[in-house]
Amino acid sequence: MVKYKGIVASGGVGIGETYLIREDELFVPKKKIDYSKISREIYRFEEALIKTRRQISSIQEKISKEIGFDHGRIFEAHFLVLEDRMLIEDVIKQIKNNRVNVEYAFSQSIKKYIDTLLKLNDEYLRERVVDIKDIARRVIKVMLKEKSASLINLKNKRVIVAHDLTPSQTADIPKEKVVAFITDVGGRTSHTAIIARSLGIPAVVGLKNISKKINENDKVIVDGFSGTVIVKPSKKIVGDYKKKIAKYSKEIKAAKKPKIGKAVTKDGKQIDVSANIELPEELNLVKKYGADGIGLYRTEYIFLGKRKLPTEEEQYKAYSNVAKKSKPESVIIRTIDIGGDKFLSRPDVPQEMSPFLGWRAIRFCLARPAIFKAQIRAILRASAEGNVKMMFPMISGVEELLKAKKMVSLCKKELSGEKKKFDKNIKIGAMIEVPSAALTADVLAKECDFFSIGTNDLIQYSLAVDRANEKVAYLYEPGHPGVLRLIKNIINGAYGAKIWVGMCGEMSAEPSLAFLLLGLGLDEFSMPPPQVLKIKELIQRVTFKDAQAAAEKALNLSTAKEIEKYLKGRLRKLLDKDFFNFLNI
Ligand code: PEP
Ligand code: MG
Repeated sequence: MVKYKGIVASGGVGIGETYLIREDELFVPKKKIDYSKISREIYRFEEALIKTRRQISSIQEKISKEIGFDHGRIFEAHFLVLEDRMLIEDVIKQIKNNRVNVEYAFSQSIKKYIDTLLKLNDEYLRERVVDIKDIARRVIKVMLKEKSASLINLKNKRVIVAHDLTPSQTADIPKEKVVAFITDVGGRTSHTAIIARSLGIPAVVGLKNISKKINENDKVIVDGFSGTVIVKPSKKIVGDYKKKIAKYSKEIKAAKKPKIGKAVTKDGKQIDVSANIELPEELNLVKKYGADGIGLYRTEYIFLGKRKLPTEEEQYKAYSNVAKKSKPESVIIRTIDIGGDKFLSRPDVPQEMSPFLGWRAIRFCLARPAIFKAQIRAILRASAEGNVKMMFPMISGVEELLKAKKMVSLCKKELSGEKKKFDKNIKIGAMIEVPSAALTADVLAKECDFFSIGTNDLIQYSLAVDRANEKVAYLYEPGHPGVLRLIKNIINGAYGAKIWVGMCGEMSAEPSLAFLLLGLGLDEFSMPPPQVLKIKELIQRVTFKDAQAAAEKALNLSTAKEIEKYLKGRLRKLLDKDFFNFLNI
């Protein structure tokens, strides 16, 4: 039994066997195979070589056509590796003699191959190591792809283990087959964490190199409350955890008893508590957990992991489906936030040194008017089918907002000309997630209908902490006085222009901070669907007056720890013991 400690990403406890997703590394797990499986593994190897050769040929053809024949020839080294008899025979020998899986055999042979080249006193051959690593990664990817497709055919639900999960990988995983997620990298607001919370699946991230230490099919316990992962647990520990799971589900049922209703404080202030969604399957959860509409519909998933960009028509179908199903509740559709940790894998979107500070979100859209226009037209058309609002991510100053609005006016004009229906008074909002926008909220508020505070980014930019980097996760403090002052400034800016202000960052689902945000005067909270009930019930059990007093006091304290301790103390006093314990703060 081995215990690992990571970062809490999504609550709950999951017990199950692991399923490994390793795509980007040469490291692959070793598995013993039966004698009867030897020929199947050799066949898989041959298949993978053929498929990879086809992939390289088409890339080569494309490059030769677009840039010239000489550039296409850079792949010659790749072909030489794929056809190297010694390498191929070495892999087959390992499968036969050592009875190991083909991915492992291949990675071992490649390592030997690379070591030999590095020892040679030949600059040219040493430089080829990069090509060899590239081709090896491709072959392994082809072999693993084959396996990830088989995730769908698994009989039991599994614990997904990965170095990291890209949003497109996450979108491909059949969620009903997942007991829990664990990853090497990531923080509380990395995308794996957000998705896991949205789906109510336990998750622990930032476990450093756990994906290299765990084997496929290992039994593990994932404790999403304490951030602990226990590999090969004893029977007694499993028994203890099963009791814990039973207790947790009982508490959830008990907490769900009070009717959901609206989130109205004891002294009569009503707050909207809405849900964030990204995947279509989350629509059911929005209703199930009683959310007041959708406060953030992340649209990146329609774009990611596809060869071609989605057309206006495809987008219109997706958005109007959500709008229709949510009617009469409102749906805030956010234009794409590509970049950061959500990449479009297209040759015209280069990888960047600092993607979070680079060509992301509104910057990308304004530089790609055709993509932006198609999305805005689709959102406008969907606004004829329900209560739709539109919002722009990563606004850093008023010029960007005005340019985006100009595009909306242009699209409206076009649609009117084409006699296509849309809501002429559609509300336009800005996400406030860049410190410069937070500080100029009064200026921005005059140019839009609402704000939604994106604390996942606002925290990373104001505290200079990469939200996906586990090494600095200890500095990622939503309750930092610097963050709270920015939020106060945003709310004041909104009030000054008489527009409403919400928050769709994960911070709004942290009970003690939600209490403070209520006191600061936030009008709307939006969060992963499973968190909605808890926050609604919290609002129903306190007074706005108490929250205001607590916010005032908290803003005069000096550190996040002091602030959180103080808020927890207040809630312990104000709430009954059972509900306070249920909040798990
Ligand atoms: C945020 O930044 O708080 C947010 C809600 O957007 P995302 O997590 O998609 O960047
Ligand atoms: Mg953001």
